[in-house]
Amino acid sequence: MTAPSHLIGLIGANVAGSLSPLLHEREAAAHGLRYAYRTLDLDALGLAPDDAGQLARDAARLGYTGLNVTHPCKQSVIAGLDGLSDDARELGAVNTVVIDTHDRGPRRGGSGAAARLTGRNTDHTGFRAALLEGLPGAALGTVLLVGAGGAGSAVARALLDAGAGTLLVADAEPARAEQLAARLAGHRAGNPAAADGAGRVAAVVLDEVPTRLAGADGVVNATPIGMVGHPGTPFDASALTPRHWVADVVYRPLETQLVKAALAAGCRVLDGGWMAVAQAADSFELFTGRRADRARMRAHFLELAARAGTEVS
Ligand code: NAD
Repeated sequence: MTAPSHLIGLIGANVAGSLSPLLHEREAAAHGLRYAYRTLDLDALGLAPDDAGQLARDAARLGYTGLNVTHPCKQSVIAGLDGLSDDARELGAVNTVVIDTHDRGPRRGGSGAAARLTGRNTDHTGFRAALLEGLPGAALGTVLLVGAGGAGSAVARALLDAGAGTLLVADAEPARAEQLAARLAGHRAGNPAAADGAGRVAAVVLDEVPTRLAGADGVVNATPIGMVGHPGTPFDASALTPRHWVADVVYRPLETQLVKAALAAGCRVLDGGWMAVAQAADSFELFTGRRADRARMRAHFLELAARAGTEVS
């Protein structure tokens, strides 16, 4: 019998240069799978972010068996889905769509296609896995998170699930930090780690980040600051000392100014490539049911990033 083939799409804006197709396809080849990964670029298709839900359904009709979803479609794609995992619902964001063609459950669109589209979120499982693999044993007593947008929400959830004691959230837009802290309070209510008092979350103002670092074990950048076109560091990095760990979610380039400053200060560092690889590995596993070799994917990612001219930490 022929093994099932996988056709995966990436929905988002400006995704033509994404490393995801090569990353997924090489891992699939190592498993002997028939697996093609294509970009479904909003700009190339002349579509708006709000079209993402319909695009996901059209992709399912055309034979796609799974989708990744990235900026700016992680919320808008939900309109076209049949269901969400609990974590995707809680985060209000989907980066992975599992397309099940055997399920005869409720459908939308009246297309006659028997596909069921379920939204998942591997950004938070990816960051958690990245933290555990890339910074084993990192102290999580008090963690500062700068950036309370999409990536920040996933990171926050991951930090709480990993057992963070106190999470302090800052954002250039203070209301975002406050809203995320309020949402996380709800998550804490159902988090077993919170039973012993862990999982406290509070919003802090951005100016306080350097002084708050004095009492923190680690800090995560979940803002776009440091990525190509957004130079700088999201806070004054001169307050970093060797006892801090520093994680950046930005992965273009891998060696952001914050990563450089943290390495120079003697900190343990988790670059954004760790999360990028771990979320890809988690999605691959959802699409194929196979266990991804994360070390192999990380090595491949570093190779691709170096070839793409990205500095590697
Ligand atoms: P977003 O727009 O949803 O959120 C960004 C947040 O940062 C906003 O709340 C904004 O107010 C805040 N912000 C911007 N500048 C700031 C500053 N100087 N100080 C404090 N806060 C500031 O964006 P996003 O989708 O969360 O993406 C953020 C970054 O994360 C991007 O660079 C993206 O490429 C990266 N990302 C990486 C991964 C990965 O797998 N490594 C996954 C998702 C996103």
